[in-house]
Amino acid sequence: MLDVKRLRQNVKAIEKRITNAAVKAGRKPEEVTMVAVTKQVTSEVIAALSELGVRHIGENRVQDARDKKEALQLAGKLEWHLIGHLQRNKVRDAVAMFDCIHSLDSVSLTEEVSKRTQRELPVLLEVNVSGELSKGGFTPADLERSIEALLALPQLRICGLMTMAPQTDNMDVCRFCFRTLRELAERLRAKYSGNLSLPHLSMGMSQDFEVAIGEGATLVRIGTALYAEVF
Ligand SMILES: *Cc1c(COP(=O)(O)O)cnc(C)c1O
Repeated sequence: MLDVKRLRQNVKAIEKRITNAAVKAGRKPEEVTMVAVTKQVTSEVIAALSELGVRHIGENRVQDARDKKEALQLAGKLEWHLIGHLQRNKVRDAVAMFDCIHSLDSVSLTEEVSKRTQRELPVLLEVNVSGELSKGGFTPADLERSIEALLALPQLRICGLMTMAPQTDNMDVCRFCFRTLRELAERLRAKYSGNLSLPHLSMGMSQDFEVAIGEGATLVRIGTALYAEVF
């Protein structure tokens, strides 16, 4: 059973925390968008989120997103974000299904997405700031080396960078990671001004989104915190 009332409270509480974190950082709350991560929930929950005014849905896997989208029939009401690693053999489906891909983590994958997409697609480049081997993504140095080639690819609108902080309770570690991503975006913006605006930073999850907003996040990806005591 789904406790819709509790889900509403959770959504409102997170929206309030987003607003407070933005104000505290001297930013406008409307600069920050919550992407509701739904990898762990059913299409029924996505429908309830949509009823509560949530517009942005984040899924990790192409197949899951397809199944849920088909079950929902909410075409046009929701924007779907791919936030998990994209396998090469899923690129064709992914570009047809998602409104934004956050997880382009290599030159070859980015080239493949450019080749397969039929329309201008907003994408973000994933950066492995922490250097953990378990994580995908460009290293900051790789990205600085590759960005010029990526900018030349047709059909892609490279509109930002994405990262995941390490799993830790130490918010200083998370802050350093988010700050590094912001500074990287600033360097690239300055270097390629005119060609690359990079307005978006996708960073911050349930544990650390307020820290991420303090460092400039425009897209926060929230899963667990939305579902506390909802089931
Ligand atoms: C699962 C996931 C999230 C959400 O994490 P929570 O801790 O549940 O908020 C965000 N981003 C990515 C890439 C994820 O896989």
